[in-house]
Amino acid sequence: MIQSIIKNVKNAPHSGHLASYIPALANQSKDLFAACLVDERGEILTFGDVDYLFTLQSISKVMSFIVAADHLGLDRVLEKVDVEPTGDPFNSIVRLEVAEKGKPFNPMINAGAITVASLLPGDSVESRVKSVTDFISKVTGRQHSVNQEVYQSEIETAYRNRAIANYLKANDYLIGTVDEALETYLQLCSIEVSTVDLAKFGLFLANDGLPLNENTKLITRKTAQFSKALMMTCGLYNTSGKYAATIGIPMKSGVSGGVLCTVQDGQVEHLKGHMGIAVFSPMIDEIGNSVKGMDFLQQLSDYYKLSVF
Ligand code: GLN
Repeated sequence: MIQSIIKNVKNAPHSGHLASYIPALANQSKDLFAACLVDERGEILTFGDVDYLFTLQSISKVMSFIVAADHLGLDRVLEKVDVEPTGDPFNSIVRLEVAEKGKPFNPMINAGAITVASLLPGDSVESRVKSVTDFISKVTGRQHSVNQEVYQSEIETAYRNRAIANYLKANDYLIGTVDEALETYLQLCSIEVSTVDLAKFGLFLANDGLPLNENTKLITRKTAQFSKALMMTCGLYNTSGKYAATIGIPMKSGVSGGVLCTVQDGQVEHLKGHMGIAVFSPMIDEIGNSVKGMDFLQQLSDYYKLSVF
């Protein structure tokens, strides 16, 4: 059945657009499509362009939150960023001015993620970014780097993100300088991964911090629990509530067209138990979620009853 879901979704006419507000992302081919599912025993299903590398964009917000929580402790991170959904677009500024003292609502939107970027271990942009690429490498088993073309393209046009970082700094929700936090955040968004890497990350979260084929957990259960709750309640920006109701899996999307999912327990063909699922298709809707990615996940969740509710 999964084969026919893939076929339907892949062959459907395109709708949406490429994330052309980041000029380098406007060059991606619309037709790229990849999906990967991996379970706790290492059984894996792959479809389409699974080796194609794309940038994490907002999916990096999950990884940076985990690394900051691991470094400072969850409580210290939560002093600087809340865990409440906003119902606003990912790059919204409005609540930083109207909410109490300007505390960012959650780490899955730009405001919260820029704060988190400033809390990462290290004394330079490079070392903070490295703390996250090293962590992702421990989970995927291979090296990751920043796509410089995408990073340059974004930093040159980061007018809103710079405004957000300035608001955060004015209200004492940023450690270090505005430039350092912004550069760190945007480099994290430009880390390259494949769909297989993302599925392994989803499994790692389902396993409460245990990477595939390892026997030592890398993070606390509490951090894994918070990450999954944040993905479920805030991971798809101002459609998080709708997708919690319709798909019911903790997910995190990025404007490059990737979606990271973590399944606590389920069965898809011969895969079962804890699972990581990832999908990539670069055409996004006006909210910033992959159109075909969400369509695939909706059909998969419906057919295999993957919703936690
Ligand atoms: N780098 C992008 C930005 O900050 C990430 C946005 C996203 O994926 N939603 O605008």
